[in-house]
Amino acid sequence: MRRQHRKTAAFLWPVTAGSKITYNLAEIFPNRIWTNQVLVSLKASSPAFLLRMNQKYGHLRRGIQQPELDDFITACAVDTLKHKKPWLTLIHLVDMDSMRHRYGVRSDEALAALHRLDQRVGRLIDATIEAGTFAQTNFAILGDHYQINVDHMIHLNQAFAKRGWLTPTTAGTVKNDWHVWAKSCDGSTYVYTRNFADLKTLRTLLEQTPGVERVSDQQTAQARGADPTCRFMVEAQAGYYFTDETNRAEVVEAVDPDSLGQPDRYHGVHGYDPLKPDYFTTLVLNGPSVKENQTIERADLIDEAPTFAALLGVKFPNALPGHTLLDALKGASHEAD
Ligand SMILES: [Zn+2]
Repeated sequence: MRRQHRKTAAFLWPVTAGSKITYNLAEIFPNRIWTNQVLVSLKASSPAFLLRMNQKYGHLRRGIQQPELDDFITACAVDTLKHKKPWLTLIHLVDMDSMRHRYGVRSDEALAALHRLDQRVGRLIDATIEAGTFAQTNFAILGDHYQINVDHMIHLNQAFAKRGWLTPTTAGTVKNDWHVWAKSCDGSTYVYTRNFADLKTLRTLLEQTPGVERVSDQQTAQARGADPTCRFMVEAQAGYYFTDETNRAEVVEAVDPDSLGQPDRYHGVHGYDPLKPDYFTTLVLNGPSVKENQTIERADLIDEAPTFAALLGVKFPNALPGHTLLDALKGASHEAD
């Protein structure tokens, strides 16, 4: 993009800190949205842009609290669409994800967030109309995951500590002398081993832990695109999720409703196997390059990058996985894929 002297903009788009985006408000929280994180370092964003946006719209924000954070981000994006007319604009709105984590997937609070999102999308579309760029703009609205309601936690590291396979710290984390260690992805978890021979006992322990749906070995995990250095990948049943904690009384624990909103205390999570039933996300496309009234019943997240590359007219590296969703695009043919 930069080589073609095109202006680009990103608003809380993940993993953009330090990138060469013209106007960048980098993601200001880490993957734990409840963590009380101060505004990201100026270095991660475009400093002058961040300061100007904060001067103009900072009054809308209350730290990283929702829904104010998404209102702030929307105002910044609207301003940028109108005045800078970037060639590519990426906007990450997090309101509904936050509400689902805290209140549940189909809660009234999550539904209210969906309505707020709808209004924000309306404001963004209106901004392109005002800027005179609407007719050339392709819009893509997407999620990167759904969520599943939960009411129980599984603290696998607690089970490993009991067997002396790792040493807990007083902070509830793990000392670096571990032989077996679980690293949570919420709906699933990785289990790593070091100098540890008794894999059969470990596997049995994992399989017999209440709330565990399936234990996959390293080979299977690798074939699914997961971390090839893990020993096992463990999938939770719907209703359960994994933490990394070591200072809990039991391995499996009900989530205390009063704790919701604190770090790692959820009523909804993601990070499950993408093949879990009724566990889909959304992609909606509209614009001059997109066919009208088409429905694609099923696609993979990795199909999005080549599809967006096609919309932008940039070459997508052949070595990367995924297929362009040709049925969605005007003037595209399957022979060209
Ligand atoms: Zn989330």
